[in-house]
Amino acid sequence: MPRSPEREHTPVLIVGAGPVGLALASELGWRGVACTLIEKTDGTIEQPRMDFVGPRTVEFCRRWGIADWVRDAPYPNDYPQDCIYVTGLNGYELGRERFPPRGEEKLPPQSPQKRERVPQDMFDPILQRFVRTFPHVTLRYNSELASFADSGDRVIATVRDAVSGETREIAADYLVGTDGGGSVVRERLGITMSGNPALTYTTNVMFRCRDFTALHAKGQAYRFIFIGPEGTWLTIVAINGGERFRMSIVGTADKVTHSEADIHAALARAMGRDFDYELLSIMRWVRRELIADSFGSGRVFIAGDAAHLMSPTGGFGMNTGIQDAVDLGWKLAASIAGWAGRDLLNSYEIERRPVAVRNVTEATSNLGRMLSTRSRLPPPEIFQAGPAGDAAREDYGAWFTATMRHEWFTIGIHLGYRYDESPFVWPDGTPAPPLEAATYTQTARPGARAPHAWLPDGRSTLDLFGRGFTLLRLGGDAPAAGQLLAAAAEAGVPLDVVALSVPEVTALYQRRLVLVRPDGHVAWRADALPGDARALIEVVRGARAFASLRPGEQSATVAPAVSAQTTGRGGRP
Ligand SMILES: Cc1cc2nc3c(=O)[nH]c(=O)nc-3n(C[C@H](O)[C@H](O)[C@H](O)COP(=O)(O)OP(=O)(O)OC[C@H]3O[C@@H](n4cnc5c(N)ncnc54)[C@H](O)[C@@H]3O)c2cc1C
Repeated sequence: MPRSPEREHTPVLIVGAGPVGLALASELGWRGVACTLIEKTDGTIEQPRMDFVGPRTVEFCRRWGIADWVRDAPYPNDYPQDCIYVTGLNGYELGRERFPPRGEEKLPPQSPQKRERVPQDMFDPILQRFVRTFPHVTLRYNSELASFADSGDRVIATVRDAVSGETREIAADYLVGTDGGGSVVRERLGITMSGNPALTYTTNVMFRCRDFTALHAKGQAYRFIFIGPEGTWLTIVAINGGERFRMSIVGTADKVTHSEADIHAALARAMGRDFDYELLSIMRWVRRELIADSFGSGRVFIAGDAAHLMSPTGGFGMNTGIQDAVDLGWKLAASIAGWAGRDLLNSYEIERRPVAVRNVTEATSNLGRMLSTRSRLPPPEIFQAGPAGDAAREDYGAWFTATMRHEWFTIGIHLGYRYDESPFVWPDGTPAPPLEAATYTQTARPGARAPHAWLPDGRSTLDLFGRGFTLLRLGGDAPAAGQLLAAAAEAGVPLDVVALSVPEVTALYQRRLVLVRPDGHVAWRADALPGDARALIEVVRGARAFASLRPGEQSATVAPAVSAQTTGRGGRP
């Protein structure tokens, strides 16, 4: 095989330009860190998988300055997002969860952004476009990672050009595998995965049908869930709010390959008769519930589907992966800039793996809810006309509608994840609030996402957090920050100070001093600086674990206070 002689160097080599690799390149590019992103395909997306961009992901896009690009994605603003439960498109409706079109959906009270419906073949190009704005980021398609070796002080990767077959070596300070569920990087590191490797064998089919809505009387909707005598067996989603749809034959844990004849039969059964459509693509896939036992080793890390594989029920997969990218991104940037403590990068797995476990578990619970009709089979009357059928439909439909609400309202999963157990978060002694799924109570307790509140000038508090740490001085009597600034400067840690006298913000954050990390999570809060400001900086930059401090150095803990509860819609309709 031909080999080109020259070896290039990059601080970070990212392997795999799916949404998570693109997000990591975005985060690093935005932080001014040079990186190279390689992708083995030519970037064509044959079948979009994700279409739900959660509110936290849109908050990251806001930080990168591209939330408008997401808002302006060509998914129609007036397409209703209802989820409808039916015996067939021309059969009976059992229940419906109404959701407004994306153009009419209100912001949740806890965020300056709302969730968005932007399928992968619209979302990936947005991130590609953003990545290409950075001269220090290289995005290379048709480039496949063949192998790599971590020598302790760098990683040497062998990359194959898919067109010419030529291989070349790239030296990198760090390598990140965002190479999906079949991750070569994970495999080469010898990282095993735990969980359930096969929840269902499912077949996804993209089809085009121009007059789909005219063929039945259920109206436009985002998702149809089909319930037959055997329970839930099929879903159809409006993938682009136009003429393209995705049918999923849900399947079971038994290995089965649905033939083209099965696919045509399923579509005819769903519609109640044959109809005209164009079959665009077929994707046979296995729904998994797996978490990598480690998120990396040495100078090599994994993120996204390479690190966790979950059922799409809930729309958590990509969103969880993009959170990985943001957590890892600032730690890589700090390490390359030289101000990270020795163990900062180790905290990536400590912080992100529990979130992945929570989300993978929640996704499987959502699948169980969608398939709960298989254990509580519908009574035969729901398929029959007449008053007895109406009564049975109302009863069964109400139960299923209530059951499915767990999946549609999950703002606590999207915004409420926390890093309480991180060694580099300085606890304030208050008890951990419960982790909620359907609701999300904003809290500035260390480890949590720093809360959103609108400022008098129209910005969000989230807009105050940038590439370094941010110290909020809240209220007119907030203590001066000189010692902390000096300690940060001594360690080379970028720290901005923002003084605010906005009563709502002071009430929400509950302390006069709040230190927010570069990823927008609270690292520390108190009403006074700790006795040793240097100890605080050592902890938050990953040089010393909080637990290793002497009691005198931990003096900044204060008494608990109460936070105000708000709820909102952040889940996936
Ligand atoms: C039907 C369905 C619907 C879904 N809906 C949602 C949703 O609404 N919201 C959500 O958040 N998630 C959703 N998901 C999950 C989501 O699609 C994944 O979590 C997400 O795509 C993972 O992104 P990733 O970048 O980690 O991996 P991938 O998207 O798998 O990308 C990995 C990339 O790495 C490349 N690659 C692999 N090996 C190499 C190599 N050796 N060298 C170079 N490149 C390589 C691959 O070609 C690929 O482009 C859904 C999944 C499915 C199946």
